[in-house]
Amino acid sequence: MKKLFEVKKLNMHYPVLDGLMGNIKGYVYALNNVDLDIYENEILGLVGESGSGKSTLGNCILKLIVPTSGNVLYNGTDILGKDKKELNNFRKEAQLIFQNPYMSLDPRMKIYDILKEPFLIHKIKDTKFINEKIEKIISYTGLSKEVLDRYPHEFSGGQRQRIAIARAILLNPKFIVADEPVSALDVSIQAQIVNLLLELKEHLNLTMLFISHDLSIIKYISDRVAVMYLGEIVEIAEKKEFFENHKHPYSQALLNAVPVISEDKKNKKIILQGDIPSPQNPPKGCKFHTRCPYAIEKCKIEHPELLDINENHKVRCFLCNR
Ligand code: SF4
Repeated sequence: MKKLFEVKKLNMHYPVLDGLMGNIKGYVYALNNVDLDIYENEILGLVGESGSGKSTLGNCILKLIVPTSGNVLYNGTDILGKDKKELNNFRKEAQLIFQNPYMSLDPRMKIYDILKEPFLIHKIKDTKFINEKIEKIISYTGLSKEVLDRYPHEFSGGQRQRIAIARAILLNPKFIVADEPVSALDVSIQAQIVNLLLELKEHLNLTMLFISHDLSIIKYISDRVAVMYLGEIVEIAEKKEFFENHKHPYSQALLNAVPVISEDKKNKKIILQGDIPSPQNPPKGCKFHTRCPYAIEKCKIEHPELLDINENHKVRCFLCNR
């Protein structure tokens, strides 16, 4: 499989400023030495609690925010070193679907104008081409062309997310970051949007980073699963391997939090206690040791590496890598 993205040693440390003097009094360690490959035509599910760094990683991969250090190679070329003009093509090929369809569409613009905007930004002015493309894409997303003459407030959350998805795929992207695209929607609508994304992935040969805190949706849509905790990938594996043979105690805890009718008696239940620690003051050693029921003395002192369990499975835990 060809790598579309290679993320290498990515760090995002936001300075925390002193209110009075504006001096830097610390950092929020949002991403710490993240290494991640995304393969062409896959959906990589990225899961973790709020504050684990999932959205920051998605934004850094799209260069919507500039990381503190590290590299993001797209088709072998580092996009972080490129200027605005050089990024033009990348901006067409890599798109973002936002979490909240109520916030992501300008309420003052008609849907036609919202969908026309990406063409204008990329200096595409052929009105016939634009209109044909908009009508084609809007029908891909299951909407009729009558919606084009209406305003966002006239639509339900699911319809708005379909419009947001239409906007994201207008310029024939190769890659989409879908950042919690269904978490603001009713459960009954979530399945429709997830199925739409799966259809579009097949139809348009898309590669996707699908960010969610919901493991049941990740299980449904993803080809591989990566788990983040306090700015680090702690486990990554192919979907089947992950759901049948997860190793990291944090992955186990996330899976234990998913309600199931028949209990898996193989695994000891781990129920997460308390909140994720502040990324401004992360624990030393293994970052999960303050909540891990298996923590040993070494976990408080040494930091585990993300190591191979097998060809398709990596885990960051001393107990899994012995
Ligand atoms: Fe738990 Fe130690 Fe493994 Fe961290 S390294 S997950 S604290 S057992």
